[in-house]
Amino acid sequence: MNAIPYGRQDINQADIDAVVAVLRSDFLTQGQVVPAFEKAVANYCGAQHAVAVNSATSALHIACLTLGVGQGDIVWTTPITFVASANCALYCGASVDFVDIDPRTYNLSVECLAEKLALAEKTGKLPKVVIPVHLCGQPCDMTGIHALGRKYGFKIIEDASHAIGGKYKGEPIGNCRYSDITIFSFHPVKIITSGEGGMTVTNDATLAQHMRLLRSHGISSTPADMQPRPAQEIWNYQQIGLGFNYRMTDLHAALGLSQMQRLDEFVTQRHAIAKHYDQLLRGLPLQTPWQHADSYSGYHLYVIRLKLDETRKTQKQFYMALHAAGLGVNVHYIPVYRQPYYEQLGFKVGYCPQAEQYYSEVISIPMYPGLTDEQQDFVVQILRRALEE
Ligand SMILES: *Cc1c(COP(=O)(O)O)cnc(C)c1O
Repeated sequence: MNAIPYGRQDINQADIDAVVAVLRSDFLTQGQVVPAFEKAVANYCGAQHAVAVNSATSALHIACLTLGVGQGDIVWTTPITFVASANCALYCGASVDFVDIDPRTYNLSVECLAEKLALAEKTGKLPKVVIPVHLCGQPCDMTGIHALGRKYGFKIIEDASHAIGGKYKGEPIGNCRYSDITIFSFHPVKIITSGEGGMTVTNDATLAQHMRLLRSHGISSTPADMQPRPAQEIWNYQQIGLGFNYRMTDLHAALGLSQMQRLDEFVTQRHAIAKHYDQLLRGLPLQTPWQHADSYSGYHLYVIRLKLDETRKTQKQFYMALHAAGLGVNVHYIPVYRQPYYEQLGFKVGYCPQAEQYYSEVISIPMYPGLTDEQQDFVVQILRRALEE
């Protein structure tokens, strides 16, 4: 009964026509549309290679594997993210640890990262990979993270699930200038959608080739990859590694490729909505999203942070009041290590104080292209009432 969700897709006739055209074609999967979608995203981002997969979760998994993450390795990420950013390390048999957040951007804090690295170097527990997440679409301090990567020898995967269409220091997120691999999500709540879907982009041809193998059973049909076999036998493909079926279908790619046409328009609309909220919410006991000068956010989410000492409601009461009024607001995110599965791995309450403080104060309010001015005014009216009651 949530009349206005926190996020949703925007599908037009061109999107529908693109998917129908694939349905009428010879190939529903492994045709020409997946490569076309990959090319469109790579060109947009200014990255040399792109590998489409069936979700960002799969993208994170193969990105970790291709960077050599395995048993005995450690991966670090932020606690304020979707669980997939951490689970990918566990899929590889590695362990995962969390770096507290910056209280202004809510992204992984470079100061905390530097401190934790200095300590880890002494105890011999340096991470093999660090996964910064561009929360809400706002890019992390990538120059800072990249410099620490050089110093301590870790690789970097940018989780840009929220951030396609955004920019860092004036350049598109996904150009991998400060990372080894960037991954995107095309889930319907994200900035563009393919239904389900994800992609990895990189400037390293070897990594891209390895990720292509991993997404399809470790099978290659490229003659150069093949091992010698008796000439009278038929060897039109060979499995040369252990991979998965993480392929994207052409149906999904057709939707994604069609959505790429409107990516800039979507992000512009998201900025207009954010600006409108910034104005409407001025003077209320809450913090609107702070934006770093280096950042042009993808604005996947609009997160408000309640000043609870200036209101009569608890965060939960506030959340319930908004839901009761028909607003499908959400919390992004519960710190990953507070999840029961992670608690059972040994993580304790209090581990990342800034992340926990953030979690106890935030609410994501509706933000998506197609959200009308009237709907935004309604959202703000409900917010005001809930704050003043
Ligand atoms: C949505 C999301 C994912 C996972 O995306 P899927 O495409 O649903 O697998 C990973 N990381 C972050 C930060 C996300 O928001």
